[in-house]
Amino acid sequence: MLIEDEILNPIISDLIKGQRLSIIQGLALLKHPNLNGVLEIANLDKKARYGENIFFNVNIHVNQSNICVLACKFCAFRRGKRADDAYALDTNSYISQIEPFAEIVDEVHSVGGLHPEWNLGYYCNLFEQTKNRFPSITIKALTAVEIKHIATISGESFKETIRQLKQSGLGSIPGGGAEILVDSVRDKICKGKESSQEYLDIHGIAHTLGMPTNCTMLFGTVETPEERIIHLDKLRCQQDKTGGFQCFVPYPFLPDSSRLPEAQLSSANEILRMIAVSRLMLDNIPHIKAYRMNIGDEIAELAISVGADDIDGTVIQESIMHLAGSTAQLDFGIDELCRLVRRAGGVPIRRDTVYSKFKPIEIKSPSSVHRLNMAK
Ligand code: SF4
Repeated sequence: MLIEDEILNPIISDLIKGQRLSIIQGLALLKHPNLNGVLEIANLDKKARYGENIFFNVNIHVNQSNICVLACKFCAFRRGKRADDAYALDTNSYISQIEPFAEIVDEVHSVGGLHPEWNLGYYCNLFEQTKNRFPSITIKALTAVEIKHIATISGESFKETIRQLKQSGLGSIPGGGAEILVDSVRDKICKGKESSQEYLDIHGIAHTLGMPTNCTMLFGTVETPEERIIHLDKLRCQQDKTGGFQCFVPYPFLPDSSRLPEAQLSSANEILRMIAVSRLMLDNIPHIKAYRMNIGDEIAELAISVGADDIDGTVIQESIMHLAGSTAQLDFGIDELCRLVRRAGGVPIRRDTVYSKFKPIEIKSPSSVHRLNMAK
C-alpha cells in the first residue's frame, strides 16, 4: 500500500510488523486530515483478518423492563416505576415475545432497566424457563451495570451472580453500558452507573468463567478524542488479561433537545473514522461491529468497507435505539441484509452468537431461512 504520509507510513509499518499502536498513534489517526487514508488502512487490516467475509446473526431484541432506578442523561428508554408507559415483562410475557420468531432466530438479546425488585432468583428463573422452551436459542443478556445491580440487591458477589446466571442458561453478555471508560466522563453522563473498573472487572470475571462478552463505546456525548482512545486502550488491556471479548461495537450518541443538548450528532465521516480507528487500535479483539440499529443502513453499508467485519443484524424488534431517534429498518430479512453486504463487496456469513458456527449465504438460498445448525 502506497500512502505518502509522515504520520500514516510509520503506522502502516508498525501494523505490518504486528506491533500494537500506541495511544499517541491512535489519537493521530483520529485527528488525521487524510480520512480516506485512515479508512483504507483499516479496510486492509479487516481484509487481512477475514478477506471479504462479513458476519451477521439472526436475532431478536426483547427488553425485559424499562423501569430503572438510575437516570443516565443520554437514556431515552428508562421510565420511573409509575410512568404510564412503564412495563416489566413477566416470564410468560417474555417467552411469548420470542415465540413467533423461535423458528428463525438464533439469539435473543435482552437488556433493560435496573428493576428495583428483580433479583438473581428472578433472572435465573427467567433464563431457565426460556432455555427450556427454546433450547437452541442463545440468550445474550444483561449489561455489566445490570449484573452489578442484580448482585447488589441479591447480596452476592459479581462472580457468584454470573456463575448462577450462566448455570441458568445465560450464554453471553452484551457490551452495552461501557459508554466511555473514563470516570470523569461517566460522572457527567451516567452518574451512579458502574465505574470504569467495575465494567472491566465484570467482563473479566465473565471471561474467567467461560462466558464470552462483547464491549461497546458510546461516543459523541461530552468526551474528548483523547478519552475515546483511552477507552480503546483500557479494553485491549483487559483483553490481554482475560481474552473473552469477541466483538467491539462503537456507536454514536443520537442527541435530541432533551438529552444532553450540548452533544452534537456525529457526522457519517466521524462514525466511519471511529470504526476504522477501533479496528486499528483493538489488535486483540477479533470483531468490529457495524450496529445498523444505531448508525442506520447506509452508514453500516459503508462501515463494512472501512474496518467493520460484522453487521448486527436482522433484529426483528428493537426499542432502545428507536426511542433515541434511530430510524433503522426493523425486520430486515436475511436476503435483504445479505444484499446490503454484497453491495459493499462483502460475502455474507451467518454466524451464531459466540462465533463458533458459520454458514455462507447463497443468493436467494431457500436454506437461508433455516436455523443455523451447520458444522463449523
Ligand atoms: S442507560 Fe440503562 S442504567 Fe442508565 S437509565 Fe437507561 S436503562 Fe437505566
